[in-house]
Amino acid sequence: GDLQPLVRRYDSDSLARLPRRAADSYKNQFGHILIVGGDSGFGGAALMAAESAARAGAGLISLATRPEHLPAALTRCPEVMARPVISGQELEPLLESPDVIAVGPGLGRAPWGEQLLARAGRAQAPLVLDADALNILAGGRVLAGLKRDDWVLTPHVGEAARLLDCDTAEVLADPRAAAIAIQQKFSGVVILKGAGTLIAHAGGVDLLNSGNPGMASGGMGDLLTGVVAALIGQRMDIVEAARLAVWLHGEAGNCAAQDGQRGLLATDLLPWVRRLVD
Ligand code: AMP
Ligand code: MG
Repeated sequence: GDLQPLVRRYDSDSLARLPRRAADSYKNQFGHILIVGGDSGFGGAALMAAESAARAGAGLISLATRPEHLPAALTRCPEVMARPVISGQELEPLLESPDVIAVGPGLGRAPWGEQLLARAGRAQAPLVLDADALNILAGGRVLAGLKRDDWVLTPHVGEAARLLDCDTAEVLADPRAAAIAIQQKFSGVVILKGAGTLIAHAGGVDLLNSGNPGMASGGMGDLLTGVVAALIGQRMDIVEAARLAVWLHGEAGNCAAQDGQRGLLATDLLPWVRRLVD
């Protein structure tokens, strides 16, 4: 599709940045992020989102995940407060304190994931929904008909097609129309990811060209989720947070790809996220 009409093109110069940290800063000013995900077999995705939020400057990070993932999570990133969730009930008290809740990485589509999304989706804090949270939302049985102005949805083309109940070919034929249609259906901010990412919000559609095909590998989207959540936690407006996160993520991918696009791992981006967000 032709991306020119009605699309604002963003580059690094036109992006809002995080302010420098005052000398007397304290962690509560930079947001407490809760990551919800990681059903059996998918623990890495939620952990990568948590670590990514940490490297993007979040003040505190909690992770609500399957108990079997806790030892690995604590070993890989002891800064993250990893909490076990078995029935879904355990999530309730964890939903009260965070400034931002990101649901979806490794969530799965089983009843465990549905339970968690149903609870987290009605929490007070702004939300980032990704991956299987979007697939469950698309199913229409959980959070049916819900629209929120304070959530960010981050579908790739496949998830976008499910959200619109259409074929991926239709999304690819006119990604701008698809991003707008998802935004109108669910409200909030929609980040339609791909080679060239569209950000649809109440004020229009933005295009950010960043990143590279080395980023077509598992885990890359989970990192973006963590960055978006971390920037919202640092008190950026959600549209500004979405724009800056997409750029940071793509630029981190470009920096990391200096060592090669093939074989680029999502976790290779983490040191660059840290450098670029500063
Ligand atoms: P996901 O499919 O959820 O893992 O997300 C993949 C992430 O990597 C998204 O942020 C995409 O924009 C990015 N990505 C994947 N493939 C490319 C590509 N060919 N060029 C630029 N970015 C890409
Ligand atoms: Mg994904």
